[in-house]
Amino acid sequence: MKECTQLLYSGEMNLPGHIHPDAPAIFPATAYAMQDTQHYFAVSSGNGEYQYNRTANPNRDSLSAAISLMEDGEVSAVMASGMAAISATLLSLLRQGDHLVVNEAIYGETIELIDLILVPLGVTVTYADFLSPESVQAAIRPETVMLYTEIISNPLIKVVDIDAIAGISRANGCLLVVDNTFSTPFVIKPLQHGADIVIHSLTKFFGGHSDLTAGSVTCSQVLMQKIELKARLLGGCSDPYTAWLCLRSIRTMEMRLSRQMENAQHIAEALSGDPRVAQVNYPGLASHPQHDLAKSLFLQGCGPMLSFRVADDQTKVDAFIRRLNLITYLGTLGGFRTSLAHPATAFRTEFTPQQLIDFGMHEGLIRISAGCEAAEDLIADITQALDVFN
Ligand SMILES: *Cc1c(COP(=O)(O)O)cnc(C)c1O
Repeated sequence: MKECTQLLYSGEMNLPGHIHPDAPAIFPATAYAMQDTQHYFAVSSGNGEYQYNRTANPNRDSLSAAISLMEDGEVSAVMASGMAAISATLLSLLRQGDHLVVNEAIYGETIELIDLILVPLGVTVTYADFLSPESVQAAIRPETVMLYTEIISNPLIKVVDIDAIAGISRANGCLLVVDNTFSTPFVIKPLQHGADIVIHSLTKFFGGHSDLTAGSVTCSQVLMQKIELKARLLGGCSDPYTAWLCLRSIRTMEMRLSRQMENAQHIAEALSGDPRVAQVNYPGLASHPQHDLAKSLFLQGCGPMLSFRVADDQTKVDAFIRRLNLITYLGTLGGFRTSLAHPATAFRTEFTPQQLIDFGMHEGLIRISAGCEAAEDLIADITQALDVFN
């Protein structure tokens, strides 16, 4: 059966007796009644029944089943946010003396987590250019236990050759962790390429409606045992309502993402032909430096994220943003409506003006998260707003 069909049914609950609702029930209970001490002990020993919400919950398990299906993984755990998923994974698997090789072009707060929490605990880290497998290989030390990357970089939309990175990871006996938030499982399923753990901020494309915060980890049973034990103690479990809502979003995710990816491609093509746009970063364009790599790796499309560069003029960029009618300026991505972000502003407190330029975050760089509108409406909106650069 096709994955898009399975997704409509995955994570169904088997409720006892004669109750067959066409939508899942929500289990907000913090605890479940135990018959006697033997029953309590059996549940505590992991007989699959539920006992206490932070430990396990039916709605989180339903959502986990759907995510495991999408990522082609054995098991998943659902956490309170993407950062809860990332912190639970890193804190449970790393210990003092371990060395980590991290893609330098990943989500900023993941880097802060490593620098502010893991490094003071005695974990060492090397940031490397994951676009160059040689740099990653050169960063490996005898005590390296983990490689950490994303597939599509933010905000320059470069593509990591995950097969090459997985080869290096395997050859050196490391765990490869991939944050697949930006790419989504409709673009790539990193476990099929040799990753050991896949993480998502479900807040973005999985939630898809800008109304929930959650995260997930997908991996083998063996790894999950190590992660879950400590994740439970860190306390970042997702609440049942959010897990229920996220599964509801997943039912229509394939349709949303197909449209979002098509729109990203259409917008990228339209902007490439616009004289006011200096550069468009989208792997679906033949001009993208990793177009062939993207075509060989990616499944249904080249993703819903793109960026482009206009004149480096903050006043005009602000006028452009204000002049857009459809596209909203947000500090997030992944909703069903198209949104934009301005990377230079997002990182202005962290980096000096020179660093921003060195990292390619020019004043004129604009990042787009494509939504589900008609492509022609989006292109018309961007094109009229670009008039401020005439
Ligand atoms: C948003 C995001 C996160 C963090 O997720 P939260 O749900 O906000 O905690 C992690 N990684 C990537 C790539 C993200 O875009």
